[in-house]
Amino acid sequence: MSQNISRRDFNKLLVSGVAGSALGLFGMARPAFAAQNRIVVIGGGFGGASAAKYLKKLDPSMSVTLVEPKAIFYTCPFSNWVLGGMKTMEDIGQTYTILKNKYGVNVIADTATGIDTVKSTVTLKSGKVLNYDRLIVSPGIDFKWNAIEGYSESVSNSSMPHAYQAGPQTVRLQKQLLAMKDGGTVLICPPGNPFRCPPGPYERASLIAHYLKEKKPKSKIIILDAKDKFSKQGLFKKGWERLYPGMIEWRSGATGGKITGVNASSMSVMTEFGTEKGDVINIIPPQQAGKIAFDAGLTDASGWCPINPITFESIIQPGIHVIGDAAIAGAMPKSGFAASSQGKVVAASIIRLCQGKVPAPPSLVNTCYSLLGPGYGVSVAGVYKLTSAGIVEIPGSGGLTPMDADDDHLNEEAMFARGWYNNIVQDIWG
Ligand SMILES: Cc1cc2nc3c(=O)[nH]c(=O)nc-3n(C[C@H](O)[C@H](O)[C@H](O)COP(=O)(O)OP(=O)(O)OC[C@H]3O[C@@H](n4cnc5c(N)ncnc54)[C@H](O)[C@@H]3O)c2cc1C
Repeated sequence: MSQNISRRDFNKLLVSGVAGSALGLFGMARPAFAAQNRIVVIGGGFGGASAAKYLKKLDPSMSVTLVEPKAIFYTCPFSNWVLGGMKTMEDIGQTYTILKNKYGVNVIADTATGIDTVKSTVTLKSGKVLNYDRLIVSPGIDFKWNAIEGYSESVSNSSMPHAYQAGPQTVRLQKQLLAMKDGGTVLICPPGNPFRCPPGPYERASLIAHYLKEKKPKSKIIILDAKDKFSKQGLFKKGWERLYPGMIEWRSGATGGKITGVNASSMSVMTEFGTEKGDVINIIPPQQAGKIAFDAGLTDASGWCPINPITFESIIQPGIHVIGDAAIAGAMPKSGFAASSQGKVVAASIIRLCQGKVPAPPSLVNTCYSLLGPGYGVSVAGVYKLTSAGIVEIPGSGGLTPMDADDDHLNEEAMFARGWYNNIVQDIWG
């Protein structure tokens, strides 16, 4: 792929699914040998399911076991669309049937509870023990439950959902929005960096505003942000003024947005500048790598997993590859597209390692669409390469929707967003 390709053409390539092959990810020759290498994958989300599928696609002779407790994986991408009333939970549910039946991945519905790095085994909640030659860990995120006074897992499961792992949490937040009176206040409280899907909270504010504008127009949304700036900020603010004038207020950390505590019984949050009450309160707590990564000693002091950027092999525990949100992947954001891209790279690397070959330096891609309203989309995209400074974005490889994009362009981006979703879920679970 030429690095000079236009941004719009690049987006079209991504939607049509050929960007990966243009980058050499899908086009890799199938290995001639028939190894029986045992690969175990923990986590069947964007990273893990991609890795499991592409291992079998590239070399059907590999023995690939995927451990994932959920029978239906609800994608975080498009979960904001559910809150906006534009998709249903059924629309965003993915299963493992095709991975199992068509690609021959051994899918085990269980939770990994321990990794023995000396014996190279994974213990499951059921007591079963799996042997591995190489292990891929893609457990996503966990929350720092002690970071906000008064906020706990049980509060998130009752009055103040985070809805940052799609599923019952999404349904809870949606029910609260449906039950809220017209004229109510929704508080959305995003964390500081780094966190899963940097534009996610702001797309959420947009699509909740879309719902409120139609059904409860006297209501308002206040974003109490721990940060002083956020992803695609100019584009979001411009869109909010156009689509939802006066409905969304964003307060930066420096102007009183940073929350220090919550009171679930009075439905209020404390900031450095005072107390704010909400009828619906969505707290998105600070995050860290999924629990199993901690238990296996894969994390560093940052709470995330340092990796070799060529193979995504842990630099702490050899033989274990960490991908997706849990990994420290340089300039790549914590996104589903990034996780899937890393899953393909790790699949190709492991096959080469099993053949005794040196893994090739990866080409990695990411694009994140955000919907502000049904015909109003914006995006950020990038191609990444390895340098001595780690994984960096290739200058000029992607970029942002232009600030002066016209209505046709914004509508086209909304259509690309739909195409992107259909394409990526088909690529991973289909
Ligand atoms: C509201 C929202 C909107 C988003 N929108 C977008 C978007 O438009 N585009 C985009 O690219 N990204 C988006 N994202 C980000 C995307 O969801 C994540 O970056 C992506 O899911 C990360 O993939 P992962 O494999 O690291 O983790 P996940 O996809 O979360 O998968 C982790 C899996 O591991 C399993 N697991 C955890 N621990 C264990 C264990 N011990 N044993 C077995 N299984 C385990 C979990 O059950 C889970 O299924 C969004 C996120 C949010 C919250």
